Amino acid sequence: TNQFDIVIIGAGPIGMACAIEAQKANLSYVIIEKGALVNSLFNYPVFMTFFSTSQKLEIGGVPFVTINPKPNRNEAVEYYRRVAEKFSLKINLFETVNRVVKDADDVFEITTSKADYIASNVVVATGFYDVPLLMNVKGENLPKVTHYYKDPHLYAFQNVVVVGANNSGVDAALETYRKGANVTMIIRSGELGPNVKYWVRPDIQNRINEGAITAYFDSELMEIKENDVDIKTPEGIITIPNDFVIAMTGYQPDFAMLRKFGIDLPDSLCPVYNEETMETNVKGLYLAGVVCGGLDTHKLFIENSRVHAEMIVRDILG
Ligand code: FAD
Repeated sequence: TNQFDIVIIGAGPIGMACAIEAQKANLSYVIIEKGALVNSLFNYPVFMTFFSTSQKLEIGGVPFVTINPKPNRNEAVEYYRRVAEKFSLKINLFETVNRVVKDADDVFEITTSKADYIASNVVVATGFYDVPLLMNVKGENLPKVTHYYKDPHLYAFQNVVVVGANNSGVDAALETYRKGANVTMIIRSGELGPNVKYWVRPDIQNRINEGAITAYFDSELMEIKENDVDIKTPEGIITIPNDFVIAMTGYQPDFAMLRKFGIDLPDSLCPVYNEETMETNVKGLYLAGVVCGGLDTHKLFIENSRVHAEMIVRDILG
């Protein structure tokens, strides 16, 4: 009974898109997801607004209706839940895939935290939100440091350091500032990230210019201590009082897991796959969604990776 044409790993938007395509083609499948449905989106900041319009987040041809110019995290979580419901997608939640191997008969054996499965094909749609890029500084493991910013209220009236000036860092700085935090941004380069949402950029720029948010450019966090942090700035090392560090330094796919599944990873850490079929070096093992970008997590997003679903199912149907 645990035998399928396709086992899909990850119930993100793209894993779900793959399931819908498999269902349309009458292929048997199951999605195995280690957390909640659309677990990455569930763990986004609660007030986060997408940079994509709702149409570009749609899967399975189901309209994503919102009266906002860009949908927020709460609307997106609800949209994907309704899509899963509409198609009665077969999804096993809170189950982690630990092992994928091909047996002597050329079929995949999949071992999870709960069961074993057999499949002719496996789709890895595991995204990149589970492994943060670390700063590798002393004190990074203190409980006051997070790589997953959620809710600004936590930081009200506190001394907050935000590391990084891409979308996540800029959003965290503005939101916590507006809840009364004393915010200091530490930015490695000389300017704000090039991909900062165009409607957010003037807001952060003006807050920095007027001194409401302090920003240290060309600077790096050196050490995090219980009550303060050391920052290396072009003017020398400074120490400022600190209660919380929000490290928005980016994320990366779980490369160790991909290797364990047998997927070739060159030095660039961009996984190897056929760009027409999404098949990896292992026959019958496919990659889908943002995991394909490797370290370049800005290359792929929902809009330009939802097509992977059709490409994969087309190839499986041969
Ligand atoms: P994910 O949504 O990350 O799904 C992967 C799933 O795999 C997760 O649910 C995870 O729990 C699961 N998983 C991982 N390993 C295992 C395992 N071993 N076993 C079982 N399950 C596993 N993209 C856009 O298109 N527009 C935006 O506006 C946008 N905004 C973003 C904002 C933030 C803050 C971040 C971090 C990302 C944003 N992105 C945006 C990128 C976005 O995350 C992806 O486009 C989208 O989530 C990709 O979908 P996915 O299905 O490829 O991966």
